[in-house]
Amino acid sequence: MASATAATSTPHSILLQRPTSTAAPRTPTSLRLPARAAKISCTAVAAPSPSSPLTGAGERGVYNFAAGPATLPLSVLKKAQAELVDYRGSGMSIMEMSHRGKEFDAAIKKAEADLRALLAVPDTHEVLFLQGGATTQFAAVPLNLCAGPSDPTDFVVSGSWSDKAFKEAKKFSAAAVAWSGKDGKYTSLPPFDAIKQNPEARFLHICSNETIHGVEFKDYPEPKNKSGILVADMSSNFCSKPVDVSRFGVIYAGAQKNVGPSGVTIAIVRKDLIGNAQPITPVMLDFKTHADNASLYNTPPCFAIYICGLVFEDLLAQGGLAEVEKKNAHKAGILYDTIDASGGYYICPVEKSVRSLMNVPFTLAKGADFEKQFIAEATKESMVQLKGHRSVGGVRASIYNAMPLAGVEKLVAFMKDFQARNP
Ligand code: PMP
Repeated sequence: MASATAATSTPHSILLQRPTSTAAPRTPTSLRLPARAAKISCTAVAAPSPSSPLTGAGERGVYNFAAGPATLPLSVLKKAQAELVDYRGSGMSIMEMSHRGKEFDAAIKKAEADLRALLAVPDTHEVLFLQGGATTQFAAVPLNLCAGPSDPTDFVVSGSWSDKAFKEAKKFSAAAVAWSGKDGKYTSLPPFDAIKQNPEARFLHICSNETIHGVEFKDYPEPKNKSGILVADMSSNFCSKPVDVSRFGVIYAGAQKNVGPSGVTIAIVRKDLIGNAQPITPVMLDFKTHADNASLYNTPPCFAIYICGLVFEDLLAQGGLAEVEKKNAHKAGILYDTIDASGGYYICPVEKSVRSLMNVPFTLAKGADFEKQFIAEATKESMVQLKGHRSVGGVRASIYNAMPLAGVEKLVAFMKDFQARNP
């Protein structure tokens, strides 16, 4: 097993000891070690047992902190693997069969039903499985919701992604910045009454979680526009916690962070907003095309939708999104606590009240060279893809639903150990 090999061959293998799975983490072993602990090499490290917290990503030999595409639940991957060659007795993989056949029809219907159950999606809203990534929705939303390019729209620009959404919307609407966090380097969110909403705006757009900057809305502003429409890009915190869908005109999310592989984008659209797209709207960007055809107008991303369906089943089996949110809050809590207790060694620039439970960006006060060293040593310790986004640098730990608690426990133990060795 890959993890057993990793456990015996890395210099800091003490960190690979089975972490505790209890809610209150023990003082990490590394803190009790002398400053030169990295030179100690232990060979008798316990390999993960099936019941240990290392099962999951740990069983694969790495904890994957990627921002997306990101780690998926091992149980989902194993189920997909078991069904890959012969999908449920059909003699075909789900990639090889008609999207209009009974097997795929059942898979997409089940995926939609389970997502509706997870998010308690009301009957007033359509669930659409689309293509083109969340980036395509940056254009599709104003194309569907505005009568023409002179219709005003409002954007809260809280980071790179909402900035991209705003810039794209300018092509298809009279988009305005209702609030910008740029001067504060995107480390905060506005008090809601500081958002300068245009009553004539067709919608107010937010990004519920900025994947690069790590700011997350904990509640949502009321749209003050006459249409009463709030739109959210939820790509990086979709299905990480319960959301009152009825408050939104449109929610959209690329799947590749919390719910599946890249290739499918999920949109949840209030039904009365469908059917009024601008005349120039390409058929593939018109919500009506997909709503009228149950997301089967053309060939959908079948495999991606199938995997999302398996993830939805897994989230329901965990007890639903309220349970999932508790786990996410605990994981993020121990990571932020470690940063805040480091005496300024690690710095998370984001205002505490809006820190993301999904993406935790931080820097090292000692500078970029130490960040490089930190990332390189973490990689040797099997904690991979921790590099901050190329636009901001630093370190970023993405800890989506499928990141096991053991992965975050191992990261915080490593952070304390790194600090002790490099004071
Ligand atoms: N919005 C957010 C919040 C994102 O994190 C991303 C991707 N990282 C996007 C939009 C763009 O998504 P896609 O690559 O699916 O177009």
